[in-house]
Amino acid sequence: MRTLVSVILSLSLIQAAQAGRDHDHKNKHHQHEHHQHDAHSHGAAHLNIAIDGSQLLIEFRSPAANIVGFEHQPRTPQQRQQITTAVEQLRQAEQLFITQGTSCRLEQHDIVTDLLSKHDHSHRHDDKHDAHSDFDANYALRCDNTAALTGINVALFKQFPAIESIAVQFITPAKQGGTNLTADKSFIQF
Ligand SMILES: [Zn+2]
Repeated sequence: MRTLVSVILSLSLIQAAQAGRDHDHKNKHHQHEHHQHDAHSHGAAHLNIAIDGSQLLIEFRSPAANIVGFEHQPRTPQQRQQITTAVEQLRQAEQLFITQGTSCRLEQHDIVTDLLSKHDHSHRHDDKHDAHSDFDANYALRCDNTAALTGINVALFKQFPAIESIAVQFITPAKQGGTNLTADKSFIQF
């Protein structure tokens, strides 16, 4: 699913490139900078949204600090429970992403966090002072009529108050764009 969202967003960038070479250079530069500085910044999160036929595809990525308040591997049963609870909250896509104009039902989800990984890579991170971890959630929802979808209210700020801002990129058949959400401005208008 994540790949599909990324592919759709990449296609939109290729279209932008065809629209004008200068514009393309600016876009690429901006994307690069964005990735370098904002890929993992506490308080900030990312949301990629794409419509593919009758499916609404959502990719959410956040530093673990925003979700459970720590980024090291769990050291106590309480911390392990916090992670389990967070994964359970993140599964509730229909409560987190409230669609307007049409109703959508969750078909598929995939919630991943390197807080629960046991391979060497994360262990090495755990030992490092500047260790960072993320939550990565991918959803596919099926909607009654994606053409009627006018926007999405994002309830992530209520569920996870440590999230201060969410950078959104979206592409629908009619429109593509981006916006920055906060707790006071949590609606994505397509
Ligand atoms: Zn971090």
